Amino acid sequence: MAKKTKIVTKGRNSKLHAGCVNPPIYQTSTVLFPDLASYHSAENGVRFYKETENGNAADYSYGIYGTPTTFALQDVLCELEGGDACVITSSGLSAITTTLLALLKSGDHILMVDTVYGPTRRFCNKELKKYGIETTYYDPTIGADIKNLIQKNTKMIFLESPGSLTFEIQDVPAIVKIAKENDIITVLDNSWATPLYFNPLKLGVDVSIQAVTKYIGGHSDLLLGAIITKGEAVTKRLFKSAQNLGVAASPYDCSLALRGIRSMAARMEMHQKNTNVVINAIKDNPKISKILYPAYEGDDFHELWKSQFKGAASLFSVVLDRKYSDAELANMIDNMELFGIGASWGGYESLVLNFDPSSIRTATKWTETASCVRFYIGLEDTEDLISDIKKALDRL
Ligand SMILES: *Cc1c(COP(=O)(O)O)cnc(C)c1O
Repeated sequence: MAKKTKIVTKGRNSKLHAGCVNPPIYQTSTVLFPDLASYHSAENGVRFYKETENGNAADYSYGIYGTPTTFALQDVLCELEGGDACVITSSGLSAITTTLLALLKSGDHILMVDTVYGPTRRFCNKELKKYGIETTYYDPTIGADIKNLIQKNTKMIFLESPGSLTFEIQDVPAIVKIAKENDIITVLDNSWATPLYFNPLKLGVDVSIQAVTKYIGGHSDLLLGAIITKGEAVTKRLFKSAQNLGVAASPYDCSLALRGIRSMAARMEMHQKNTNVVINAIKDNPKISKILYPAYEGDDFHELWKSQFKGAASLFSVVLDRKYSDAELANMIDNMELFGIGASWGGYESLVLNFDPSSIRTATKWTETASCVRFYIGLEDTEDLISDIKKALDRL
């Protein structure tokens, strides 16, 4: 079954829900059992594997372990990522922190990509450190040379491909090969590409993470995360720890995410098309010195992207022609009409932010001196978006 078909059909077992086309919102904490024997046999309802055709009432033992609404979302994401199991968490960041806490322990060492999502870096530096877990940041372009950074206690390599500010694509197969040779777990934040355009688990990665908040939700109206695992050992450890940590997700938000995902393939096609049109219209503008977008032919990571990905998201950055002051950048961006100023992305609406990679990285040096701006291209008309960006560049 093609992914576009899975997006529409999976996690949608009408037979379990009185024929309803969408899984209803099961808004519940307590689940009642017919007798003590079935309550005790449910083992607190820890559900390891995917929903079966028939479903099983005993799976739903208490709201924190998921409701039929949560399980429906788990099932469709699991199918799309090609995983064995999925845990839904209350945000993308909590999917990351749950994974790190579940799979690492005091005294362990983790290799973390230098271009990782900012709050992931903060969690390593502030929280993991408290538990005696040491983080080493590595160059996203490192490839097989990552073997030189492995220590005796290295238990995890964390990837994010591409990073969501400067869009370096990682050589995932090369890193996975080294990880497997050294018995190291690999985790990849797959939020940018979505499971539609990239399948890290198929390349041997053990855990794929989605900020469901982004393209899966698709409407900037929910916060959720997903951890999708492959392999029994990793799956069991993750589920046990998620249970111990009290990880839960709102059935209402799961229902919104299920509604969002049904149109994801259609939205992604339009996001991607709009992005190509916008980039082609602005790439030769004298105020822009470089486009950072792996799907763009002139990008340094274009070939690597083509070899691993089936498509691209609509988030990209530009390096301007020189360094601009805060006031100049504010004049450019504050006066944009269609591009909102705000964190996140993946919704229907366009966004813009400026950023400075050199202030964030520690393992690599950002050598561009000009200012950087990130654009998120929404579903508006491209002529309107291009006109807004051109006017903004003219204001510089
Ligand atoms: C937004 C984002 C997250 C976190 O998602 P939230 O739901 O906002 O916590 C994680 N990784 C990446 C790459 C993101 O862009």
